[in-house]
Amino acid sequence: MSDVRNVIIIGSGPAGYTAALYTARASLKPLVFEGAVTAGGALMNTTEVENFPGFRDGIMGPDLMDSMRAQAERFGAELIPDDVTAVDLTEEIKTVTDSAGTVHRAKAVIVATGSQHRKLGLPREDELSGRGVSWCATCDGFFFKDQDIAVVGGGDTAMEEATFLSRFAKSVTVIHRREALRASKAMQERAFADPKISFVWDSEVAEIHGDAKLSGLTLRNVKTGETSELPVTGLFIAIGHDPRTELLKGQLDLDDEGYLKVDSPSTRTNLTGVFAAGDVVDHTYRQAITAAGTGCSAALDAERYLAALG
Ligand code: FAD
Repeated sequence: MSDVRNVIIIGSGPAGYTAALYTARASLKPLVFEGAVTAGGALMNTTEVENFPGFRDGIMGPDLMDSMRAQAERFGAELIPDDVTAVDLTEEIKTVTDSAGTVHRAKAVIVATGSQHRKLGLPREDELSGRGVSWCATCDGFFFKDQDIAVVGGGDTAMEEATFLSRFAKSVTVIHRREALRASKAMQERAFADPKISFVWDSEVAEIHGDAKLSGLTLRNVKTGETSELPVTGLFIAIGHDPRTELLKGQLDLDDEGYLKVDSPSTRTNLTGVFAAGDVVDHTYRQAITAAGTGCSAALDAERYLAALG
């Protein structure tokens, strides 16, 4: 069993790294669990970030996260690219277990685990993952050069994926179950102006076809019930995210959608010494800057909590 740390941070997106930076600069020597395969968080899966203040000409998502990581490390944050597999946050000294089963102890914990992509829940979806079905245009777009592909969803992520994919693909068909998009106006305009992108409205994917590789989709119009075939070799699923709160169930209060509840505007959870920040809390804004902002708040809340412990 390790020594008792001041603070352990779970997560390495903008929220986790910002919390790490602030707690490191406050000489609290934070231990940060970054996640094994998802270190750096959601922005590792995007290209240009044009709305993070301070970068007049924009910055690539992975570059932004590398800089945040390096900045936290510069001030003494200890970063571990591993998953936390269990926590006990209920006592004054909290325990966090890593994938090797090692138990780490801390007086305070900041949860910044973000959210994960949602699945369609259809047969063949998992089997054809990596064989035509993807959740990450940035990772996989290149493999679909000159192919016909589909994107499911109507929000910002779906429009970003469709616009990005149109650079590689022969055509991109956006399938949306409503008759209007949820995406921001700027994202919509960009997608509508792209000659390679077309839209199938009021429709959902009913079936995914293909043996070794994706060969096509059956679409169903949700108003008329009519079905149609769409021969595509790529399917990008962009229908939203679920907060990563599995570890925390039964200990931290969650809302109806599974997001962590905090004593807003603070980042305090229902357990003393446990704070939460970023997309694991936030249904509304879900931006890098808001995640970074609440990461800062969580660090300051933890710092004050630790100071009061003496
Ligand atoms: P995340 O970035 O999701 O990070 C969560 C972290 O928690 C990850 O590092 C993960 O490894 C870690 N984690 C989870 N569970 C565990 C565990 N058990 N153990 C250890 N670690 C764990 N926002 C913008 O402002 N501008 C944009 O241009 C923009 N573009 C986007 C494009 C795409 C494709 C996507 C998906 C999102 C985009 N966003 C953008 C939104 C932005 O990325 C998120 O709002 C932001 O990353 C949320 O930060 P976070 O720190 O809360 O969570």
